Amino acid sequence: MSIETSHVNIPHLPDDLLNYAESVGHGELHIKMDKETGLRAIVSIHSTNLGPALGGCRFIEYNNASEAIYDAMRLARGMTYKAAISNLPLGGGKSVIMRPKVIRNREALFEAFGSFVNDLGGRYITAIDSGTTVEDMDVIQRKTPYVTTTSRADESHGDPSFATALGVFSGILAAVKFRLGKTDLDGLHFAIQGTGHVGYLMAKRLHAAGAKLTVCDMNMESAQRCANEFGAHVVDPKDIFQVECDVFSPCALGGILNDHTIPQIKAKIVAGSANNQLGLIKHGQTLLNRGILYIPDYVINAGGLIEVVGIYHNDSPEKIKKDVEHIHDTVLMICQQAQEQNIDPAVVADNIAAKRIYG
Ligand code: NAD
Repeated sequence: MSIETSHVNIPHLPDDLLNYAESVGHGELHIKMDKETGLRAIVSIHSTNLGPALGGCRFIEYNNASEAIYDAMRLARGMTYKAAISNLPLGGGKSVIMRPKVIRNREALFEAFGSFVNDLGGRYITAIDSGTTVEDMDVIQRKTPYVTTTSRADESHGDPSFATALGVFSGILAAVKFRLGKTDLDGLHFAIQGTGHVGYLMAKRLHAAGAKLTVCDMNMESAQRCANEFGAHVVDPKDIFQVECDVFSPCALGGILNDHTIPQIKAKIVAGSANNQLGLIKHGQTLLNRGILYIPDYVINAGGLIEVVGIYHNDSPEKIKKDVEHIHDTVLMICQQAQEQNIDPAVVADNIAAKRIYG
């Protein structure tokens, strides 16, 4: 799970946040301040059309409240679409706690946030996200039942990265079948950008499936770990786009598919866990024009969300695993429709999700 504690860059802050909210169909925006604990929190509920709005709680620094509100709103909208494309009985929401320079009492802060979530009566369910931990979720649970990703005694210890990696892997199997006509990954070459929580687990799965790996990370130690454990070749982060490979797997950060990087990509498929991979919507078409199959990020990286919902509903681990692996079929369906209609898979995914949300 990404734990970003440093300041976040918010792209293109709109001049008028409420006009933006209206234009993207936002439902509710809730703000809570608590002087005693220093809590300044925002809950953004984009949609509850398909069920309660579930989405993580970010705890990072922002320059100002407008940035924090915009971040919550744009991420909430993404959650609505991710839940809808995954056929989950959920809407989309997200929360942000503005991280103070000095945290006086972390437990008290998250308890206050838990009370805030509880006041919303279940229309919003919170979870772990950048800067928050499983322990924080346990604290929130003291005040509200509307929280998931609390601690568990399994291999993941509540970290959704395991399920996310399984989902990405399942989606890659579908993409490879569709684009390369292969039913396994043996001998295929993958370039992984970012070997953090998900990237490392992806490397592990791909290596076990017989794939050849090239990896990069800003943190050399993390990339080197993949070299030591999986025989991966390590390259400088700036060189990862030009690697001659079958699949490029972005598992680091958003906005990396853009006018500068797309012409460098040598892969036939782009499929990875990173959120908001397309720099702009038009870059989906740019990839299509180059004959590169792009698997929409929020379709392939939904494993963590699917697991979180399964746990919230007390589903068995077997059912949850099956539901995560179903990403394979969703990816295949989107690829087929994209080919039939000769349009970018990201547009296909948006159309299917929007139809489910708005009828
Ligand atoms: P992480 O922070 O554990 O790993 C990200 C890694 O990317 C870090 O090791 C970082 O050093 C590296 N990195 C940053 N910039 C880089 C660059 N320019 N080049 C190469 N490496 C770079 O995060 P994570 O939890 O593994 O998530 C990875 C991506 O997947 C994020 O975009 C996240 O939003 C998305 N995602 C994660 C989950 C999940 O369950 N963890 C679920 C859905 C989506």
